[in-house]
Formats: sequence, structure tokens, C-alpha cells
Amino acid sequence: MKPDFTKGLVPAIVQDNQTKQVLMLAYMNEESYKKTLETKETWFYSRSREELWNKGATSGNTQQVVDMKLDCDNDTILISVIPQGPACHTGEVSCFFNETPITEEAMAETNIFHTVMEEAEDRKKHPVENSYTNYLYKKGIDKIGKKVIEEAGEVVIAAKNDDIEELVNEVSDLLYHSFVLLANQGVSLQEVEAELARRFQKKGNNKGERPPIEEW
Ligand code: AMP
Ligand code: ZN
Ligand code: ZN
Ligand code: ZN
Repeated sequence: MKPDFTKGLVPAIVQDNQTKQVLMLAYMNEESYKKTLETKETWFYSRSREELWNKGATSGNTQQVVDMKLDCDNDTILISVIPQGPACHTGEVSCFFNETPITEEAMAETNIFHTVMEEAEDRKKHPVENSYTNYLYKKGIDKIGKKVIEEAGEVVIAAKNDDIEELVNEVSDLLYHSFVLLANQGVSLQEVEAELARRFQKKGNNKGERPPIEEW
């Protein structure tokens, strides 16, 4: 099989053969495709410079081609490479490092707080033997409430001790037990986030509506 160059340049996605990370996208014409096959190094056609381009020719960051695949209709190339250095001219390993709003959303959803909360909710639905979380659910709100108060006390003690490691540990304990308490009451983390976001907006746009600090 060979790429279909009849409609012009063909996009080539370059992927790290080991990590599978997408490194860059560039375009190939027939000549650069042939050069790539011949030399087992990536060659592209530079649209801005309007010339054949051997990736790494000036930077030294060449890409050794391990495998090359075509998509279903032969109009896109996927190249697996062993990179000899960063793929991007900025020095980044991959050209894809500029974040967009959707990345930030996805990151928020995969953050550790969500992961911990999801596990707490999952334990409630599917109890596991010897699980401390299930032990807490079994004991109920009195036990969970006691733990939240206990951990809150330990947070304050750690702070007063000026012990950073202890403080980080105790805040983690407090957050975990708070999440279990929320899950026990059937309250989602999203509800808490929405409330925090609402307060944050008020703080920014409309200071007058924010409740006085002592009422929080
Ligand atoms: P190189 O091919 O690494 O020797 O870099 C030569 C020139 O090609 C750079 O100065 C850039 O203009 C361009 N270039 C290199 N890598 C990329 C890339 N990943 N994406 C777009 N342009 C690139
Ligand atoms: Zn296609
Ligand atoms: Zn780049
Ligand atoms: Zn603790």
C-alpha cells in the first residue's frame, strides 16, 4: 500500500515507538515519503518553506523510523519513531503541549479528589471485604462523624506543631473522611464544587452578596 497523493499533501502523525506519545504532525509529498522509506528517517514537505525537509537536519533531532501505517483510506500516515531528541523546535518532547479549555476540564475530572471520591462512592455500591471505607459505612454516620471531628483536631495539632509532613497527612485524612461522609449522605463532590464555584464568582463579581466570613 502507498499513500494517496492525488489530492496533494498527506498529513503524517509522528508517534514515539516506545511511549506511544504523539510527537508532531507534518505533511508529506510523494518525494518526502520515498526519502523516508529510503533513509528510515522522517522527511516532510514544509508548507511554509516550500521545500523538502529532513526532520533534525539542523537540530540533530532526527527520527528513526520503526514502523509506518496508512489509515483506512490511505490519506493519513502514522509513523512510529525512535526520536533522537525533542520533536518540537521549541525543545519540547512533543509539539502538543498547548492546553485548551477542554484539557483543563478533563484534568479537573481526573484529579485526585475525584478519584478518591469515586472510590468512596464505589465502595458504597460494591462493598469489599476488609475495606476500611466499608467498615465506616457499616458503622454509619456517628462513627464517620466522629472520625471527621477527630481528623480535624489532628489537622490543627499538626499545624500548631509546625510539622509539614504531619499536616499534609492529617489534611489528607480529613479530606478522605469528609468524602466518605459526603458519599454516606448521598452528596456528590460536584455539589460541593458548584457551591465553591458560586462563592468564587461572587467574590469576583459581586462582593456585596458574599456572606460575612464569620457566617461561613
Ligand atoms: P530540525 O528539522 O529539527 O532540524 O529543525 C529545522 C526547522 O524545522 C526548525 O527551525 C523549524 O522551523 C522546523 N521544525 C522543526 N521541528 C518542527 C516541528 N515539530 N513542527 C514544525 N516545524 C518544525
Ligand atoms: Zn483517512
Ligand atoms: Zn512544535
Ligand atoms: Zn489522622
